Amino acid sequence: MSAPLPSDPATDPSFSDMLETRPSLKMDARDGLLFEGVPLHVIAAAVGTPCWITGAETLRRRAKALRAAFEARNLPVTMHFAMKSQDHQATLTILRQCGYGVDIVSGGEMQRALHAGIQPSGIVFSGVGKSDAELRAAVEHDIAQINVESVEELYRLDDIARACGRVARAALRVNPDVDADTHDKISTGRAGDKFGIEHRRAVALYGEAASLKNVRLVGLAVHLGSQMLTAGPFREGYARLADMVREIRAAGHTVEAVDCGGGLGIRYRDEIAPSPDMLAGVIAETLGDLDVRLSIEPGRWLSAPTGILLTRVIETKAGNPDFVVLDAAMNDLARPSLYESWHGIMPVAPSGLTSPTKLWDIVGPVCESSDIFARDRALPVDTKRGDLIALLDTGAYGSVMSSTYNTRPLAAQVLIDNGKWEIIRQRQSVAELIAAETVPEWLTAKDDHG
Ligand SMILES: *Cc1c(COP(=O)(O)O)cnc(C)c1O
Repeated sequence: MSAPLPSDPATDPSFSDMLETRPSLKMDARDGLLFEGVPLHVIAAAVGTPCWITGAETLRRRAKALRAAFEARNLPVTMHFAMKSQDHQATLTILRQCGYGVDIVSGGEMQRALHAGIQPSGIVFSGVGKSDAELRAAVEHDIAQINVESVEELYRLDDIARACGRVARAALRVNPDVDADTHDKISTGRAGDKFGIEHRRAVALYGEAASLKNVRLVGLAVHLGSQMLTAGPFREGYARLADMVREIRAAGHTVEAVDCGGGLGIRYRDEIAPSPDMLAGVIAETLGDLDVRLSIEPGRWLSAPTGILLTRVIETKAGNPDFVVLDAAMNDLARPSLYESWHGIMPVAPSGLTSPTKLWDIVGPVCESSDIFARDRALPVDTKRGDLIALLDTGAYGSVMSSTYNTRPLAAQVLIDNGKWEIIRQRQSVAELIAAETVPEWLTAKDDHG
C-alpha cells in the first residue's frame, strides 16, 4: 500500500535513493536530471510545462522482463496490457511490437487498441458495466474474450451475440473473496467489492451457461486488486481459482482458459516491490498443472515507471508550512488527491542532489484543498520560482485520469526513445475546450433584445 499523506521525512527515500532504484533516471553534473539520457530541461524549454514524458526503452525493458519471467519457468502465458493505466497510441504500439495484447474496459479503449494495430484476437474485455453497444462491437469484432461480470451480463451477451449471428467467447469473472491488502479504493477481489461473480455461484452458473447457444464459456477470470506487493493474496486467489476449475471440470464442463488479471505492484516510495518472478512462481505453483491457456493483465507494473510528470515552480510561499506551488495540479495527476499516493518528487537542476533541503508542502494551483502532491516533503532550501521539478512513476493512472478542471487544458505528452524525443500529444488549448461548447440560440437571443 502506498504511504498516506503526509510523507514521513524520517523514512522518505533521499534523492540518491530514488535515482539508485530507477535505472532510467540519472543526475548529470551539467544538464541536471536525465530521463533515458535526455535532459529534462531541454524538453521543458521546447514543450513547456506541465508535460508528461514516457520512456520507450523503459517500457520495452519491462515488457521483456515480465515475459522472460514466465519463459524461464516454461510457462506459456499470454500478456494483455491493462490499457486503462496508459492508453496512448505510442504506448500501445510499443507493447504490440513486444507481443502484447490488451485488456480493455470500454468500447473507446477497443477503438484505440484496434487503431494501434492490435488484432481482435489480442483483446480481452473486462469491466463491471458494459453497454449493449459495447458488447455488440466486441462481438462483431470477434475479440478474443469477454470477461462477464454477472449472470445478467451473461444472458445479455447471449442475446446480443444471437442478434449478430455470432458465438461470443466469454470467461466468468469470479470474485474469490480475497483481501488484496492494498488501498481500499483499489481493492477489487473482496466479497463486498462490486466486481465479479461470487465464487460458489460461479460454479453453478458455469454449468447453466453450457446451454447457451451464442456464448461459449472458455474459462474463468479474476483480478484481485492493484498495487499488490506480496505473494500471499495472489497465491490465495489463484488457489481458489484452481479449486473452481477442478470443481467445474468434475461437473463435466470444459475449462480451457484462466485469466489471472493484473495487480502486480511497484516501488513508489520504499515498498519492497514484488518481482515478475514471484508472480510467475505463484501462477506456476497454483495453476501450472491445470492444462489451461493462461493469461495475465498487467497495467501499473508495466507503465508506471515509464512516465514522469515534468512541472515548474510557479511560486514559493513562505509560511507555516512553506509551500511550493507547481504548475501541475490534481487535474493532471489525480492519484495523490484520489488515493493519497506517494510519488517521488525530484529537483531537475544539477545542484538538486547536493543542496541542503528543507520540508515543504508541494501543491498545485487548483482551487481545492485536496490539490496537494505531498506534505512535509524534502526539496532544496533554495527552491524558487521557475525551478523544474519531476514527479516520478506517473506513467500509470496519470495522464489517463487527467481532467480539464479549472479550465486547465490537458498537458502535452512527449516520448523519448533511444536519445530521440518527440511530442506525441500537443498541449490542448483553451480555444479547443471552448470550441466544443455551444450556447442555445434562445440564450444569445436575449443579448440582442437587451
Ligand atoms: C485495472 C485492471 C487491471 C490492471 O491492474 P494493475 O494493477 O494496473 O496491474 C487488470 N485487469 C482488470 C480487470 C482491471 O480492471
